[in-house]
Amino acid sequence: MTQVTETSTTPGAADRTPRRSAKPHGQWKVDGTAPLNHNEEFKQQDNGLNVRERIEKTYAREGFDSIPSDDLHGRFRWWGLYTQRKPGIDGGKTATLEPHELEDRYFMLRVRIDGGALTAEQLRVIGGISTEFGRDSADITDRQNIQLHWIRVEDVPEIWRRLESVGLSTTEACGDVPRVILGSPVAGIAADEIIDPTPVIRQIAQRYIGDPELANLPRKFKTAITGHPSQDVVHEINDISLVGVVHPELGPGYDLWVGGGLSTSARLADRLGAYVSEERAAEVWLGVVQIFRDYGYRRLRNKARMKYLLNDWGPERFRTVLEEEYLGYLLPDGPPPAPPTRPGDHVGVHPQKDGGYYIGAAPVVGRMSGTRLTALAELMERHGSTRLRATPHQKIVVLDVARDQIEAVAAGLAELGLDSAPSVFRRSTIACTGLEFCKLAIVDTKDTAAWTIARLEDRLADVADRMPDRLSLHINGCPNSCARIQTADIGLKGQLLPDANGGQTPGFQVHLGGGLASSDRETAGLGRTVRGLKVTADGLVDYVERLIRRYDDERDQGETFAYW
Ligand code: SF4
Repeated sequence: MTQVTETSTTPGAADRTPRRSAKPHGQWKVDGTAPLNHNEEFKQQDNGLNVRERIEKTYAREGFDSIPSDDLHGRFRWWGLYTQRKPGIDGGKTATLEPHELEDRYFMLRVRIDGGALTAEQLRVIGGISTEFGRDSADITDRQNIQLHWIRVEDVPEIWRRLESVGLSTTEACGDVPRVILGSPVAGIAADEIIDPTPVIRQIAQRYIGDPELANLPRKFKTAITGHPSQDVVHEINDISLVGVVHPELGPGYDLWVGGGLSTSARLADRLGAYVSEERAAEVWLGVVQIFRDYGYRRLRNKARMKYLLNDWGPERFRTVLEEEYLGYLLPDGPPPAPPTRPGDHVGVHPQKDGGYYIGAAPVVGRMSGTRLTALAELMERHGSTRLRATPHQKIVVLDVARDQIEAVAAGLAELGLDSAPSVFRRSTIACTGLEFCKLAIVDTKDTAAWTIARLEDRLADVADRMPDRLSLHINGCPNSCARIQTADIGLKGQLLPDANGGQTPGFQVHLGGGLASSDRETAGLGRTVRGLKVTADGLVDYVERLIRRYDDERDQGETFAYW
């Protein structure tokens, strides 16, 4: 029977008396707060948020060499700043050089865009910053942020001033904090929406982002919230997700998921089976973050994500701790989300609930430029739109297009290289930052992806009309999983491979058969590594072409790539 009561309970009633294990995990509530590694030390010595004042008063005036290491390599992240990779250092050096030898004197700056929601004015400001301070660089990430490169510390205060003048920020865009909140790109506008997540995203961002009490977590904490039936925020791989559902007695609200994450030891999130009303969503979010802060593992950094706590506790215990220690009431049981009936990337033209239309378009692997962002803002305004959304698939969605403007907007987007009817390859390929700017990278990703897409479009033109809507190709520059390779039909993990002359050449380990509910499969699953299957970057196009031709030959009628 569905449990719908929200009764008070006695906090701490369950038999969960924290006990010290022989080897402490660094859980604050169990082991105490004494730091067990250098990261924990510097975070305790001075909250990462405090570095802003030093950037403004000292480092921006005195330059790069005045920045001490714990600020440069630690606290700067709390404000969205990472040093970028020095140009010209190949991937073979990544493991052999010290991190500071790989590091440039320029920064990547991540602009936080909760829910991916931007106005034309904000877009223009980011475009202007990019052209003036960032050598015209701008990438839309698969977490709905925009990243700029080539930023000098001297320019950071002015960049903040311009961003904040239009309501944008870089606060907690990186670091051991609640990162950007993924939100449905069609929040509040889609005709088929279950619930609009905008108020919840806004409440969380306004109340808790930049709160020093939540600015020293064991590691990053990722949030995703959607009320759209396409489940368009990759909810299975976030630390907390709220997914729109209709409770038979309580109406529209959210289904609560926790503990997803990729990289090493990839893990899909658990449903807690709990229904969360819109009114309670922000406090439930807070309770989950506080559990992570208080019980998360801090001793080993590679075991510090919340998924490891879920591995040990399981969803039942997690829900009990949340309800009894943090909320003080029971959450009602609730239904799971219905399987999505269409892709969640929002590419193409779709009706809004107010009679307008939204148009989703695909830049190649999220790559834009400041010039193109500014031109996009102008195009939108010329045709009566002032709102844009970035998507978790490195795409953009222009909102509020009148019916008689659809053709003109789509044509203008195409002129900017933003195709609203892209090939399956352009639509479904994403790539991380890779060797161009990332200090951890081993191989190039963005350029490799761009030429792979172009060649596949050309070579597979004869089967293009038989391709499914989605056939995801995700490219990572190293074993981390910024481009979510385990959730792709074809996932490629960058590594160096032996070449014929006894040297090394860039290539990829292949993962096949992954996917999330929002892609073309019924249930989420992680791709399997195909033992021994590695392709060189030079052989990538041949490999993908062979694979797709085999799929085209062998599949049964209507069989998707995921189930082939
Ligand atoms: Fe850098 Fe690796 Fe992440 Fe790519 S996957 S952005 S190379 S850390």
